[in-house]
Amino acid sequence: SIETYYRDSWVEVRLDSIKDNIQRLQQNLRKQTGIYAVVKANAYGHGDIQVAHAALEAGAQALAVSLLDEALKLREEGVEAPILVMGWIRPQDVHLAAKHDISVTVFQKDWLEEVKRQSFTEPISLHIKWDTGMGRIGIRTKEDLQAVLQEFTDSRLKLDGVFTHFSTADEEDVSYFEKQQARFEELLEEFQRLWSQPVSIHTGNSAASMRFPDQMHQMVRFGIGMYGLYPSSDVKAIDPIPLQPAFSLHSQLIHVKELPEGESISYGADYTTKGQEWIGTVPLGYADGWIRKLQGMDVLVNGKRVPIVGKICMDQFMIKLDQHYPVGTKVTLIGKQGSEEIEMDEVANYVDTINYEIPCLISYRVPRIYV
Ligand code: PLP
Repeated sequence: SIETYYRDSWVEVRLDSIKDNIQRLQQNLRKQTGIYAVVKANAYGHGDIQVAHAALEAGAQALAVSLLDEALKLREEGVEAPILVMGWIRPQDVHLAAKHDISVTVFQKDWLEEVKRQSFTEPISLHIKWDTGMGRIGIRTKEDLQAVLQEFTDSRLKLDGVFTHFSTADEEDVSYFEKQQARFEELLEEFQRLWSQPVSIHTGNSAASMRFPDQMHQMVRFGIGMYGLYPSSDVKAIDPIPLQPAFSLHSQLIHVKELPEGESISYGADYTTKGQEWIGTVPLGYADGWIRKLQGMDVLVNGKRVPIVGKICMDQFMIKLDQHYPVGTKVTLIGKQGSEEIEMDEVANYVDTINYEIPCLISYRVPRIYV
Protein backbone atom coordinates (compact mmCIF):
# COMPACT_ATOMS: atom_id res chain seq x y z
CA SER A 1 0.00 0.00 0.00
CA ILE A 2 1.23 3.50 -0.77
CA GLU A 3 1.34 5.50 2.42
CA THR A 4 1.17 9.25 2.40
CA TYR A 5 2.60 11.48 5.09
CA TYR A 6 2.15 15.16 5.73
CA ARG A 7 5.17 15.74 7.92
CA ASP A 8 8.83 16.41 7.17
CA SER A 9 10.58 14.00 9.53
CA TRP A 10 11.28 10.42 8.60
CA VAL A 11 13.37 7.32 9.29
CA GLU A 12 15.18 5.77 6.35
CA VAL A 13 15.69 2.01 6.61
CA ARG A 14 18.17 0.40 4.21
CA LEU A 15 16.93 -3.14 3.75
CA ASP A 16 20.03 -3.98 1.69
CA SER A 17 22.18 -3.29 4.74
CA ILE A 18 20.06 -5.71 6.77
CA LYS A 19 20.51 -8.36 4.07
CA ASP A 20 24.28 -7.73 3.92
CA ASN A 21 24.60 -8.05 7.69
CA ILE A 22 22.79 -11.40 7.67
CA GLN A 23 24.91 -12.72 4.81
CA ARG A 24 28.13 -11.65 6.54
CA LEU A 25 27.10 -13.42 9.73
CA GLN A 26 26.10 -16.52 7.75
CA GLN A 27 29.52 -16.60 6.06
CA ASN A 28 31.15 -16.41 9.47
CA LEU A 29 29.06 -19.22 11.00
CA ARG A 30 29.50 -22.93 10.41
CA LYS A 31 27.56 -24.00 7.31
CA GLN A 32 24.94 -25.95 9.24
CA THR A 33 24.10 -23.12 11.68
CA GLY A 34 20.87 -21.29 10.87
CA ILE A 35 19.72 -17.80 11.78
CA TYR A 36 16.66 -16.52 13.63
CA ALA A 37 16.13 -12.89 12.64
CA VAL A 38 15.07 -11.18 15.89
CA VAL A 39 12.27 -8.81 14.89
CA LYS A 40 10.68 -8.12 18.29
CA ALA A 41 9.72 -4.54 19.20
CA ASN A 42 8.80 -3.72 15.59
CA ALA A 43 12.24 -4.99 14.55
CA TYR A 44 14.01 -2.72 17.07
CA GLY A 45 12.03 0.19 15.59
CA HIS A 46 12.94 -0.61 11.96
CA GLY A 47 9.56 -2.11 10.93
CA ASP A 48 8.84 -5.80 11.60
CA ILE A 49 7.14 -6.85 8.34
CA GLN A 50 9.70 -5.21 6.06
CA VAL A 51 12.66 -6.48 8.07
CA ALA A 52 11.16 -9.98 8.31
CA HIS A 53 10.81 -10.24 4.54
CA ALA A 54 14.31 -8.84 3.92
CA ALA A 55 15.87 -11.16 6.50
CA LEU A 56 14.16 -14.25 5.08
CA GLU A 57 15.22 -13.26 1.56
CA ALA A 58 18.80 -12.93 2.77
CA GLY A 59 18.76 -16.47 4.14
CA ALA A 60 17.44 -16.31 7.70
CA GLN A 61 15.40 -19.47 8.35
CA ALA A 62 13.08 -18.18 11.04
CA LEU A 63 11.90 -15.18 13.06
CA ALA A 64 11.96 -14.53 16.78
CA VAL A 65 9.78 -12.08 18.69
CA SER A 66 9.03 -11.39 22.32
CA LEU A 67 5.23 -11.32 22.40
CA LEU A 68 2.45 -13.48 20.98
CA ASP A 69 0.90 -10.26 19.65
CA GLU A 70 4.04 -9.62 17.59
CA ALA A 71 3.96 -13.13 16.14
CA LEU A 72 0.24 -12.90 15.30
CA LYS A 73 0.82 -9.59 13.53
CA LEU A 74 3.49 -11.21 11.32
CA ARG A 75 1.10 -14.08 10.49
CA GLU A 76 -1.73 -11.60 9.72
CA GLU A 77 0.60 -9.86 7.28
CA GLY A 78 1.21 -13.15 5.48
CA VAL A 79 4.59 -14.19 6.89
CA GLU A 80 4.78 -17.99 6.65
CA ALA A 81 8.27 -18.65 8.06
CA PRO A 82 8.69 -20.33 11.46
CA ILE A 83 8.21 -17.86 14.33
CA LEU A 84 9.33 -18.30 17.93
CA VAL A 85 7.91 -16.24 20.80
CA MET A 86 10.86 -15.97 23.20
CA GLY A 87 8.88 -14.47 26.10
CA TRP A 88 6.16 -15.90 28.36
CA ILE A 89 2.65 -16.22 26.99
CA ARG A 90 -0.54 -16.95 28.93
CA PRO A 91 -1.44 -20.67 28.99
CA GLN A 92 -4.99 -19.79 27.90
CA ASP A 93 -3.60 -18.17 24.74
CA VAL A 94 -1.69 -21.27 23.61
CA HIS A 95 -4.56 -22.28 21.29
CA LEU A 96 -3.88 -19.12 19.25
CA ALA A 97 -0.22 -19.96 18.88
CA ALA A 98 -1.12 -23.53 17.90
CA LYS A 99 -3.68 -22.38 15.35
CA HIS A 100 -1.17 -20.04 13.68
CA ASP A 101 1.78 -22.43 13.90
CA ILE A 102 3.76 -20.18 16.24
CA SER A 103 6.36 -21.76 18.54
CA VAL A 104 6.28 -20.64 22.15
CA THR A 105 8.63 -20.73 25.11
CA VAL A 106 8.10 -22.88 28.19
CA PHE A 107 9.96 -23.15 31.50
CA GLN A 108 7.29 -23.76 34.14
CA LYS A 109 5.75 -27.11 35.06
CA ASP A 110 2.55 -25.38 36.25
CA TRP A 111 2.25 -23.61 32.92
CA LEU A 112 2.35 -26.94 31.07
CA GLU A 113 -0.27 -28.41 33.41
CA GLU A 114 -2.53 -25.46 32.69
CA VAL A 115 -1.92 -25.78 28.92
CA LYS A 116 -2.89 -29.46 29.05
CA ARG A 117 -6.24 -28.48 30.60
CA GLN A 118 -7.02 -26.25 27.59
CA SER A 119 -9.27 -27.61 24.87
CA PHE A 120 -7.27 -26.78 21.73
CA THR A 121 -6.68 -29.54 19.18
CA GLU A 122 -3.77 -28.47 16.94
CA PRO A 123 -0.30 -29.43 18.18
CA ILE A 124 1.71 -26.70 19.88
CA SER A 125 5.42 -26.29 19.18
CA LEU A 126 7.44 -25.59 22.33
CA HIS A 127 11.00 -24.52 23.10
CA ILE A 128 12.29 -24.92 26.66
CA LYS A 129 14.19 -21.90 27.97
CA TRP A 130 17.19 -22.57 30.21
CA ASP A 131 18.36 -19.88 32.61
CA THR A 132 22.11 -20.43 32.72
CA GLY A 133 22.88 -17.09 34.34
CA MET A 134 20.75 -14.38 32.76
CA GLY A 135 18.44 -14.68 35.79
CA ARG A 136 15.32 -13.70 33.85
CA ILE A 137 13.22 -16.66 32.67
CA GLY A 138 14.05 -20.33 32.30
CA ILE A 139 14.61 -23.57 34.18
CA ARG A 140 17.81 -23.55 36.23
CA THR A 141 18.48 -27.11 37.42
CA LYS A 142 18.42 -30.71 36.22
CA GLU A 143 15.46 -31.26 38.57
CA ASP A 144 13.55 -28.39 36.89
CA LEU A 145 14.38 -29.94 33.52
CA GLN A 146 13.12 -33.36 34.56
CA ALA A 147 9.93 -31.88 35.99
CA VAL A 148 9.18 -29.97 32.79
CA LEU A 149 10.03 -32.91 30.50
CA GLN A 150 7.71 -35.18 32.51
CA GLU A 151 4.79 -32.99 31.42
CA PHE A 152 5.34 -33.91 27.78
CA THR A 153 2.80 -36.71 27.96
CA ASP A 154 0.12 -35.05 25.85
CA SER A 155 0.39 -35.69 22.09
CA ARG A 156 -0.49 -32.05 21.38
CA LEU A 157 2.79 -30.92 23.00
CA LYS A 158 5.73 -31.00 20.58
CA LEU A 159 9.18 -30.26 21.93
CA ASP A 160 11.02 -28.52 19.10
CA GLY A 161 13.83 -26.65 20.81
CA VAL A 162 15.92 -25.82 23.85
CA PHE A 163 17.68 -22.51 24.32
CA THR A 164 19.42 -20.09 26.61
CA HIS A 165 20.47 -16.44 26.55
CA PHE A 166 23.84 -14.92 27.45
CA SER A 167 24.07 -11.81 29.61
CA THR A 168 27.71 -10.84 29.03
CA ALA A 169 28.64 -12.17 25.57
CA ASP A 170 29.32 -8.57 24.51
CA GLU A 171 32.05 -8.04 27.13
CA GLU A 172 35.75 -8.49 26.48
CA ASP A 173 36.05 -10.58 29.67
CA VAL A 174 34.61 -13.99 28.78
CA SER A 175 34.61 -15.58 32.24
CA TYR A 176 30.86 -15.23 32.92
CA PHE A 177 30.05 -16.23 29.34
CA GLU A 178 32.11 -19.39 29.83
CA LYS A 179 30.30 -20.11 33.09
CA GLN A 180 26.97 -19.90 31.24
CA GLN A 181 28.32 -22.13 28.46
CA ALA A 182 29.42 -24.72 31.01
CA ARG A 183 26.00 -24.70 32.71
CA PHE A 184 24.36 -25.07 29.32
CA GLU A 185 26.51 -28.07 28.42
CA GLU A 186 25.70 -29.67 31.76
CA LEU A 187 21.96 -29.28 31.23
CA LEU A 188 22.35 -30.44 27.63
CA GLU A 189 24.01 -33.64 28.75
CA GLU A 190 21.13 -34.34 31.12
CA PHE A 191 18.61 -33.41 28.43
CA GLN A 192 20.19 -35.80 25.93
CA ARG A 193 20.06 -38.55 28.55
CA LEU A 194 16.32 -37.99 29.06
CA TRP A 195 15.19 -37.08 25.57
CA SER A 196 16.04 -38.97 22.39
CA GLN A 197 14.14 -37.04 19.69
CA PRO A 198 16.03 -34.30 17.88
CA VAL A 199 15.37 -30.68 18.84
CA SER A 200 16.79 -27.37 17.70
CA ILE A 201 19.43 -26.03 20.09
CA HIS A 202 20.09 -22.29 20.08
CA THR A 203 22.12 -20.15 22.43
CA GLY A 204 23.81 -17.20 20.75
CA ASN A 205 22.64 -13.61 20.42
CA SER A 206 24.52 -11.21 18.11
CA ALA A 207 27.56 -10.90 20.33
CA ALA A 208 28.01 -14.64 20.87
CA SER A 209 27.24 -15.61 17.28
CA MET A 210 29.65 -13.01 15.88
CA ARG A 211 32.46 -13.76 18.31
CA PHE A 212 32.18 -17.50 18.86
CA PRO A 213 30.71 -18.97 15.65
CA ASP A 214 32.25 -22.39 16.32
CA GLN A 215 30.47 -22.69 19.67
CA MET A 216 27.01 -22.18 18.18
CA HIS A 217 24.52 -25.02 17.75
CA GLN A 218 21.68 -25.43 15.20
CA MET A 219 20.57 -21.80 15.28
CA VAL A 220 21.59 -18.37 16.50
CA ARG A 221 19.29 -15.46 17.36
CA PHE A 222 20.61 -12.42 15.53
CA GLY A 223 19.16 -9.08 16.67
CA ILE A 224 21.21 -5.90 17.00
CA GLY A 225 23.92 -6.96 14.54
CA MET A 226 21.33 -7.53 11.80
CA TYR A 227 20.46 -3.84 12.11
CA GLY A 228 24.13 -2.95 11.60
CA LEU A 229 24.81 -1.95 15.20
CA TYR A 230 27.45 -3.53 17.42
CA PRO A 231 26.23 -5.08 20.71
CA SER A 232 28.86 -3.05 22.62
CA SER A 233 32.02 -1.02 22.13
CA ASP A 234 34.03 -4.12 23.11
CA VAL A 235 32.50 -6.14 20.25
CA LYS A 236 32.99 -3.19 17.91
CA ALA A 237 36.67 -3.05 18.83
CA ILE A 238 37.04 -6.80 18.21
CA ASP A 239 35.04 -6.31 14.96
CA PRO A 240 34.34 -9.98 14.18
CA ILE A 241 32.31 -9.02 11.08
CA PRO A 242 31.85 -5.61 9.45
CA LEU A 243 28.29 -4.29 9.84
CA GLN A 244 26.30 -1.72 7.87
CA PRO A 245 23.84 0.44 9.86
CA ALA A 246 20.33 0.31 8.38
CA PHE A 247 18.63 3.14 10.27
CA SER A 248 18.97 6.88 9.71
CA LEU A 249 16.76 9.73 10.94
CA HIS A 250 16.11 12.94 9.03
CA SER A 251 14.01 16.06 9.08
CA GLN A 252 13.87 19.45 7.37
CA LEU A 253 14.05 23.04 8.56
CA ILE A 254 10.53 24.47 8.77
CA HIS A 255 11.54 27.93 10.02
CA VAL A 256 14.76 29.97 9.99
CA LYS A 257 15.34 33.34 11.67
CA GLU A 258 18.15 35.72 12.56
CA LEU A 259 18.19 36.85 16.18
CA PRO A 260 20.20 39.59 17.87
CA GLU A 261 22.21 39.01 21.05
CA GLY A 262 20.22 38.34 24.23
CA GLU A 263 17.16 36.54 22.80
CA SER A 264 16.09 33.31 24.48
CA ILE A 265 14.98 30.00 22.98
CA SER A 266 12.34 27.46 24.11
CA TYR A 267 10.76 26.55 27.46
CA GLY A 268 12.50 27.94 30.49
CA ALA A 269 14.38 30.44 28.32
CA ASP A 270 17.59 28.72 29.35
CA TYR A 271 19.42 29.28 26.07
CA THR A 272 20.19 32.89 25.17
CA THR A 273 21.93 34.08 22.02
CA LYS A 274 25.46 35.29 22.63
CA GLY A 275 25.50 37.53 19.57
CA GLN A 276 23.70 37.63 16.24
CA GLU A 277 22.66 34.01 15.56
CA TRP A 278 20.77 32.05 12.91
CA ILE A 279 18.23 29.77 14.60
CA GLY A 280 16.43 26.95 12.75
CA THR A 281 13.33 25.04 13.86
CA VAL A 282 13.15 21.25 13.31
CA PRO A 283 9.71 19.53 13.40
CA LEU A 284 10.60 16.60 15.67
CA GLY A 285 10.33 16.35 19.44
CA TYR A 286 10.13 14.14 22.48
CA ALA A 287 6.77 12.69 21.40
CA ASP A 288 8.72 11.30 18.44
CA GLY A 289 11.32 9.83 20.78
CA TRP A 290 13.83 12.67 20.46
CA ILE A 291 13.97 12.93 24.22
CA ARG A 292 14.66 16.09 26.24
CA LYS A 293 18.01 14.70 27.40
CA LEU A 294 19.26 15.22 23.83
CA GLN A 295 19.39 19.00 24.38
CA GLY A 296 22.87 20.14 23.30
CA MET A 297 23.40 17.16 20.94
CA ASP A 298 24.59 17.92 17.40
CA VAL A 299 22.61 17.39 14.19
CA LEU A 300 23.90 17.68 10.61
CA VAL A 301 22.94 20.52 8.27
CA ASN A 302 24.73 21.08 4.96
CA GLY A 303 27.27 18.41 5.95
CA LYS A 304 28.21 20.26 9.15
CA ARG A 305 27.53 19.68 12.85
CA VAL A 306 25.28 22.24 14.54
CA PRO A 307 23.94 22.01 18.11
CA ILE A 308 20.40 21.69 19.47
CA VAL A 309 19.78 24.82 21.56
CA GLY A 310 17.15 25.23 24.25
CA LYS A 311 14.80 22.58 25.57
CA ILE A 312 13.41 19.98 23.17
CA CYS A 313 9.63 20.43 22.90
CA MET A 314 7.01 17.73 22.32
CA ASP A 315 6.99 18.20 18.54
CA GLN A 316 9.83 20.61 17.68
CA PHE A 317 13.30 21.73 18.66
CA MET A 318 15.66 24.53 17.67
CA ILE A 319 19.23 24.43 16.37
CA LYS A 320 21.92 27.08 16.09
CA LEU A 321 22.88 27.33 12.41
CA ASP A 322 26.24 28.54 11.13
CA GLN A 323 24.54 30.71 8.47
CA HIS A 324 21.17 31.24 6.82
CA TYR A 325 19.58 28.19 5.18
CA PRO A 326 16.24 28.05 3.35
CA VAL A 327 13.15 26.34 4.75
CA GLY A 328 13.23 22.74 3.50
CA THR A 329 16.96 22.25 4.12
CA LYS A 330 17.64 18.65 5.18
CA VAL A 331 18.57 18.01 8.82
CA THR A 332 20.10 14.63 9.71
CA LEU A 333 19.84 13.48 13.31
CA ILE A 334 21.25 9.97 12.86
CA GLY A 335 23.25 9.12 9.76
CA LYS A 336 25.56 10.74 7.24
CA GLN A 337 25.75 14.03 5.38
CA GLY A 338 28.81 14.29 3.18
CA SER A 339 31.82 13.25 5.21
CA GLU A 340 30.15 13.90 8.60
CA GLU A 341 28.27 11.18 10.45
CA ILE A 342 26.26 10.97 13.64
CA GLU A 343 26.20 7.31 14.61
CA MET A 344 23.54 5.62 16.72
CA ASP A 345 26.28 4.98 19.28
CA GLU A 346 27.01 8.70 19.61
CA VAL A 347 23.34 9.43 20.34
CA ALA A 348 23.17 6.53 22.81
CA ASN A 349 26.35 7.64 24.59
CA TYR A 350 25.05 11.19 24.84
CA VAL A 351 22.00 10.04 26.83
CA ASP A 352 23.90 7.35 28.73
CA THR A 353 22.23 4.33 27.23
CA ILE A 354 22.87 1.54 24.69
CA ASN A 355 22.34 1.80 20.92
CA TYR A 356 19.47 -0.75 21.12
CA GLU A 357 17.31 1.77 22.96
CA ILE A 358 17.50 4.63 20.44
CA PRO A 359 15.66 3.17 17.39
CA CYS A 360 13.14 1.56 19.78
CA LEU A 361 12.45 5.03 21.18
CA ILE A 362 11.69 6.65 17.81
CA SER A 363 7.91 6.54 17.94
CA TYR A 364 5.46 5.25 15.37
CA ARG A 365 4.59 8.89 14.63
CA VAL A 366 7.78 9.04 12.54
CA PRO A 367 7.23 7.29 9.18
CA ARG A 368 9.70 4.59 8.14
CA ILE A 369 10.77 4.86 4.52
CA TYR A 370 12.38 1.79 2.93
CA VAL A 371 15.22 2.41 0.49
N1 PLP B 1 17.57 -13.83 22.26
C1 PLP B 1 16.84 -13.33 23.27
C2 PLP B 1 16.19 -14.27 24.23
C3 PLP B 1 16.72 -11.95 23.41
O1 PLP B 1 16.00 -11.45 24.43
C4 PLP B 1 17.35 -11.10 22.46
C5 PLP B 1 17.26 -9.65 22.57
O2 PLP B 1 17.51 -9.04 23.56
C6 PLP B 1 18.11 -11.66 21.44
C7 PLP B 1 18.19 -13.04 21.36
C8 PLP B 1 18.85 -10.82 20.45
O3 PLP B 1 19.92 -10.17 21.06
P1 PLP B 1 20.86 -9.19 20.23
O4 PLP B 1 19.99 -8.06 19.79
O5 PLP B 1 21.89 -8.76 21.20
O6 PLP B 1 21.38 -9.98 19.08
